[in-house]
Amino acid sequence: MHESRVVSDVACTICGCVCDDLRMTIDGGRITKAEGACHLAEPWFLAQETQEPPAAEIEGQPTSIDEATARSAAILRAAKWPLVFGLSRSSTEGQRAAVRLADLIGSNIDTTASTCHAPSILAIQDVGESTCSLGEIKNRADLVVFWGVDPVVTHPRHGERYSMSATGMFVPGGRSDRTIILVDEAENATRAHADHFVRIEPDRHFEAIWTLRCLLRGIAPEPNAELGADIGALRDLCERMKSCRCGVFFFGLGLAQSRLGHLSVDGLLRLVAELNAHTRFHARRMRMQGDVTGADTVLCWQTGFPFAVNLSRGYPRYGPDEFSAQLMLERGEVDACLFVGTEGVLQMSAKARSHLARIPTIALEYPTIRSSIEPTVRFTTSVYGVHHAGTAYRMDEIPIPLRALLPPKYASDAEILERIADRFRAG
Ligand code: SF4
Repeated sequence: MHESRVVSDVACTICGCVCDDLRMTIDGGRITKAEGACHLAEPWFLAQETQEPPAAEIEGQPTSIDEATARSAAILRAAKWPLVFGLSRSSTEGQRAAVRLADLIGSNIDTTASTCHAPSILAIQDVGESTCSLGEIKNRADLVVFWGVDPVVTHPRHGERYSMSATGMFVPGGRSDRTIILVDEAENATRAHADHFVRIEPDRHFEAIWTLRCLLRGIAPEPNAELGADIGALRDLCERMKSCRCGVFFFGLGLAQSRLGHLSVDGLLRLVAELNAHTRFHARRMRMQGDVTGADTVLCWQTGFPFAVNLSRGYPRYGPDEFSAQLMLERGEVDACLFVGTEGVLQMSAKARSHLARIPTIALEYPTIRSSIEPTVRFTTSVYGVHHAGTAYRMDEIPIPLRALLPPKYASDAEILERIADRFRAG
């Protein structure tokens, strides 16, 4: 007879919301029901234990973990310019092990942030960030502006938990106490949940943000100036921002990856700082993968830098233009690559991917997320938050504990990385 049990307060790492209020029913060694999971999360949880790939493979053939770690160590020993990449679906333990290995072998280490919010990170390093937790937004924000993002599709429970219908201490009416504004080049699914839409002219986010900064200072734009959007809509947005009690910009890749993305986010962060002369205002990135924020955080506390770090000289060097994975791969500089999670490959350019096909690669992957490349060595690892406890950082840098729901059939990525490091040391 199957034992059925229910586990409450389960955290989900599919997107940066890291919702930690899910209820899993476990029956016959599988998750059979995922209450509270959105349409992105439910298939992920229900698919656990449906596939059982080999624990280790070399060139597509099943092998032992010993053989695979030996081959991985040999690849890394022979490499002059290796790269460790990924980390955003791991957990603090795996991320620390990845940094330790990168330090040992003297490689570059980079995360999926380098192809996503890297321009925002550079802007935050320039300007600073008027930050807040998602709990503060839930309890205080009466104006929420989504800029260059479609949370209804990418972060389905963000609105219900924090930013739209969530009720809070100073917004007891929830949705009726909030004004929601969508700013983007085109309407998206979130438009149906927003009170207002501000259309940005194609590739003109930077101009629209600087027009808002002018309006906030009471400066009328020059005749014939590029404003980036309809001046009436920008004036209305400016007045709403000045007069709210607590406002927030949630911005996404539609802004960060736009033309002049780094300078546009830079301008948005300055606008937020200036708004704080009038009211309380914040800016927060909408992070994509469940623990990309943890990857930034662990890399920062271990090396001092959030992404694109080179450890070949025995000390960390930071170089977004020099040491970003995609740029190094496009230039053909990397001669071996170890992936801690491979989903970031899909975001890479065709040129970077074609270089990956020419060099030895080692991939640590979850059973249900396989890469678009055929790695030289592949390890299947168990899943944090399903088979292993761990920690994931929510998009507002709050660490959330992950629970083990099922017994692990595979080693964790941290265990595999430690074994590769041991073989590397042994020579
Ligand atoms: S919103 Fe994100 S974290 Fe929350 S359940 Fe859906 S996929 Fe998981």
